[in-house]
Amino acid sequence: MCIAIVGLGLIGGSLALKLTEKGYSVWGISRNPATCKQALERGAVQGCGTELAQLARFDPQMVLICTPLEQVLATLAALLPYLSAETVVSDVGSVKQPIVAPATELWPWFVGGHPIAGKSLQGIQAAEADLFRGRPYVLTPIAETQPQALDAVKELIAAVGAEAVLTDPARHDRAVAWISHLPVMVSASLIAAVSQEGDPAILELARTLASSGFRDTSRVGGGIPQLGLEMARHNRQALLTALHSYQAQLRQIEQLIAGERWDELLLVLQRAQQEWQQFPVNHPREILHNLGGGNG
Ligand code: NAP
Repeated sequence: MCIAIVGLGLIGGSLALKLTEKGYSVWGISRNPATCKQALERGAVQGCGTELAQLARFDPQMVLICTPLEQVLATLAALLPYLSAETVVSDVGSVKQPIVAPATELWPWFVGGHPIAGKSLQGIQAAEADLFRGRPYVLTPIAETQPQALDAVKELIAAVGAEAVLTDPARHDRAVAWISHLPVMVSASLIAAVSQEGDPAILELARTLASSGFRDTSRVGGGIPQLGLEMARHNRQALLTALHSYQAQLRQIEQLIAGERWDELLLVLQRAQQEWQQFPVNHPREILHNLGGGNG
């Protein structure tokens, strides 16, 4: 099967590496000849071009759009003249509602996708073949989605070693607001708050003493700013709802501490400890089959 990948960054490059490893014929489209050269040198692609028009020559059965979210719809529109009938197109954007319905209207063989995998580096140089292994990979079909297109993308997900999770775009966006987009904003606020310590000696001491607890809670806030901005701009309403709820929780904790209501604070922390067990981030397989709400 021939697959074309548009945008050879972290996600596009990682998909290219794994799919090539699995025997697919993979072609890349990058705006940058240096990226093409690197993708060819790393053996991620069998061929690479800088123009979308070159797709016609590759005649792929599937095209994966791996550009920043803002570019997905424009890239799909620009691709249309070069697609054969029934070419499956999918994207990897981290927000789905603004993409899926308009993209499906442009091209009925479109399937919205979002691999839940990443790291705090960008570009083809950061790409790795096993980025998706054992990770959830969300697909968000809508009523108009072609079932054969959905099946084809499911096959690709299995090939990169990920677990397909089906839901609809709105549910996806609400869920990722809680577990991905809110943590980025909370974590960035934590870093900003610590950095505002007025006594330079205390700040320096805090930096020296910072250990795994601080590293774990600050990691996502110290990531790539453009990705955080992308989440906030395109998932604004769900993120605002999550931020309001988070602020209410924080206020409650503040009041309990201010009022020295230690028993109640202990209850809050005990509940948090119990709830935390419900996020089995290290063994996702068991929960994936229990997620409902999709069209598939
Ligand atoms: P990335 O490493 O910066 O790669 C994005 C690639 O898109 C760039 O390397 C570039 O490829 C291309 N591109 C950039 N600006 C463009 C433009 N204006 N027009 C056309 N192409 C452009 O970023 P990434 O992390 O792979 O993210 C790509 C997508 O994956 C985003 O939609 C994001 O929501 C999604 N995603 C990211 C993560 C994550 O943790 N990083 C996780 C899941 C999903 P060329 O230079 O080759 O043209």
